[in-house]
Amino acid sequence: MPENPSPPLEYQILHPEQREIRVAVIQPPAKRYWLHALLFLATVFTTLSIGARLEYNFDHNLPVFSRDASNDVDYWPWPWALQDWHHLVLGIPFSACLLGILTAHELGHYILCLRRKVAATLPFFIPAPTLIGTLGAFIRIKSPIRSRSDLFDIGIAGPIAGFVVAVPVLVFGLLASKPLTPSAANVDITFGLPLVFRLAYWILEIFGNPMANHFKVQQLYLHPMAFAAWFGMFATALNLLPGGQLDGGHIIFALRPRLHRTATLLAVLVLLPLSWFFWAGWLLWAVVLRMTGGRHPEVPMYPGVNGKRWLLAIFALIMLVLTLTPAPLGGSLKEFVEDHWHQRQQPSK
Ligand SMILES: [Zn+2]
Repeated sequence: MPENPSPPLEYQILHPEQREIRVAVIQPPAKRYWLHALLFLATVFTTLSIGARLEYNFDHNLPVFSRDASNDVDYWPWPWALQDWHHLVLGIPFSACLLGILTAHELGHYILCLRRKVAATLPFFIPAPTLIGTLGAFIRIKSPIRSRSDLFDIGIAGPIAGFVVAVPVLVFGLLASKPLTPSAANVDITFGLPLVFRLAYWILEIFGNPMANHFKVQQLYLHPMAFAAWFGMFATALNLLPGGQLDGGHIIFALRPRLHRTATLLAVLVLLPLSWFFWAGWLLWAVVLRMTGGRHPEVPMYPGVNGKRWLLAIFALIMLVLTLTPAPLGGSLKEFVEDHWHQRQQPSK
């Protein structure tokens, strides 16, 4: 860690191609600690509530996201969670694991920003009524990044830090999981398991874990900690998509700036059929990539990145392969269109 981690006020950027020196004067970002703390606490609450319901359903062998009218566990379980603080305590394993992964990811970016003297905000967490109680977190970069190496390091540090925390969470989550019972098997949402789940479970099997020896990973009722790992891995995969303003896009741009546009286009072309056949949500990501694909923060073209970073890039690719699954959640665009078509045909029959 450098002695003075606070970002400087001035940057000199050499553009050999344009033969000019640009000077950017940067105001250090306002440190609004209260805002970061408030958003974080709100996200702790929303993820605790969701985690509490996951744990309640896990303990009672109910389907993962099932509502329990007798206990007022509604689809969004905030009122139920607030009735009794004991309910919220149930949510600690899920919330701590999920926020641990997300925080590690963002701090990975943030710490590298400090080390490379790039001004950045602390993480903003987004509490939201989603399946997991949040839309994730982000930091905002407030000053130019001075080299392709710095861009690479800042971009890749997040996914690596998040992944390093998500792996042990996954192992503990799998160890705490149990075989699925018929009462819990009636799932309203199906989750596709990425390769890293199968790999971790296979390793447990090799080490003689009795559950892993008798049941397949698809036959498990995943513990809320394993769900937190699932969402952590999913977030890692989304961030590593090689295009646009995502972490994967920054990595590609740092490695080969001219390849960035093509990589983004290729990613969009792959996501479109995936959304049709596997998961409709990929369409949204294709749109996000398409819309942000043309723009990228300016970084001096020279010098390039060294060989060590190419090795790290291969590790990023391995992480993407391990965490990406074509059908993370149920519901392809094809199914949606066909259902809609059938409904429209029905009255005429
Ligand atoms: Zn990131």
